[in-house]
Amino acid sequence: MGITKTDFMRGMQCRKMLWLDKHKPQLKVIPPEVQARLDAGNEFGDKAMAMFGPYEEMTVYLPGRKIPDKKKMAEKTQEHLRLGTPVICEAAFIYYNHYCAVDILKKTDIGYDFYEVKNAPEVHDQFIKDAAFQYYILTRSCVKVDHIYIVTHGPDEENPFVPNEITEEAKALSPWINDNIWDLNRMQKEREEIKTEPGDQCTNPYECWYYGYCHNSPKEEQMKLILDELPDQT
Ligand code: SF4
Repeated sequence: MGITKTDFMRGMQCRKMLWLDKHKPQLKVIPPEVQARLDAGNEFGDKAMAMFGPYEEMTVYLPGRKIPDKKKMAEKTQEHLRLGTPVICEAAFIYYNHYCAVDILKKTDIGYDFYEVKNAPEVHDQFIKDAAFQYYILTRSCVKVDHIYIVTHGPDEENPFVPNEITEEAKALSPWINDNIWDLNRMQKEREEIKTEPGDQCTNPYECWYYGYCHNSPKEEQMKLILDELPDQT
């Protein structure tokens, strides 16, 4: 596989982080607080699938495992695009082995709007970059993208889903995605470990799960100190 949305975001924070994901993932330590946030984000995303009523979900797992079968998901997505299915969730696309799965695609008169769901109260810059990656893959997969939204968490359970339009901002980042995606793909396959000095990127915009490895220090203790200062990353 080439570069996924997660790979891209992690590689742009620190190239070594992406390299470690591919070659030494056993060194990763995810603090329980972060794992709980990620789980809550997944739950919020599952609920958001129904925000426009009936939908078709594209998730397909590899036989006997809880791992998505990306190729089958992409094939199923193409089938539903051909059928003109009005709402498609976890719509998967592969472009030169780069991959993304869009939370929600909603049919419009001229193509599809897409919605990226985030369990956060407001839109962060990182969310727009997430959406820009998806826009890049979708347009190269011949999907006519109409509008782009980040769905944030509403003020209460009566209004849980708030779409925020970010169409222009996300589309404007397409050249930036193109400038970096191919280099990240080449870099992640290198045999030698990437050499990067620790710095601001270790906690900005998100805490790095290899912090202990790169700083040669007990990870959990240091993570406790920084967790409260960081934005939600789900
Ligand atoms: S701890 Fe810092 S230098 Fe090491 S992989 Fe993470 S971000 Fe990169």
